Amino acid sequence: MPQSDLAKVDFRSPRLYVDAPLHEGAEIALDRDQANYLGNVLRLAAGGTVLVFNGRDGEWRAAIGGRKRPDQLSIAGRTRAQAALPDLTYAFAPLKHARLDYMVQKAVEMGAARLQPVLTRFTQVSRVNGERMRANAIEAAEQCGILALTAVDEPQPLERWLSQRAAGRLLVFCDEDAPVADPVAALAGAPKGSGIDVLVGPEGGFSEDERSLLRRQTGTLILSLGPRILRADTAAVAALALVEAVLGDWRRS
Ligand code: SAH
Repeated sequence: MPQSDLAKVDFRSPRLYVDAPLHEGAEIALDRDQANYLGNVLRLAAGGTVLVFNGRDGEWRAAIGGRKRPDQLSIAGRTRAQAALPDLTYAFAPLKHARLDYMVQKAVEMGAARLQPVLTRFTQVSRVNGERMRANAIEAAEQCGILALTAVDEPQPLERWLSQRAAGRLLVFCDEDAPVADPVAALAGAPKGSGIDVLVGPEGGFSEDERSLLRRQTGTLILSLGPRILRADTAAVAALALVEAVLGDWRRS
């Protein structure tokens, strides 16, 4: 999204995700949760306006209809064209509830197009609530004006995910045991792949078997995130910031 478009993003207006086609004149009935979110959370009433997006058709201004409580939207004009996210997957060992909620929201804000929970030897949780993750991804998009929806994949064991990855992708392996080395130079020197996967491990770190498996993958770049051990959700933000700044869409004006 070129800088000029950023200037046009109306960050003040509230935004709502709707899973419905968006075009001039469309009428969308609100379900109870959406009516509650508009009325009680965003404190909007019938007669007001809200920005809506569905992840496919761009962003549209909508008039809120209803008697007292908002109960429907009338789609007026389009305010922004649909923007695509860079082909960036954030792969991570899932954490427990609040930390996972935070990690999902931060990965979406950082521009991840896809979230891939991977189950590793020391992963703390066995079950991952995909619906909760998808709700967090939508909430982050609503709050940050992101129009593309981050996909949330089903959890996979690390080995299986590695075996099914498309060829030619760059794997940025954040290895807590890697010697400290300039991460910007490491990323700048990475082979230009057909997409980027960033991998962060669990609070227990990676096992030695996993480490050697990861180092054997073609297209793996081992990334040090400095001389201190970061908590996994901190590592998510640090790693994605570096990748977006050196290889992603933070570079373009
Ligand atoms: N408990 C482990 C550290 C795990 S931190 C230990 O004490 O060694 C969780 C994850 O964040 C790691 O698996 C790694 O992916 C990432 N991470 C944390 N600090 C890092 C660093 N300094 N360099 C690279 N990756 C790091």
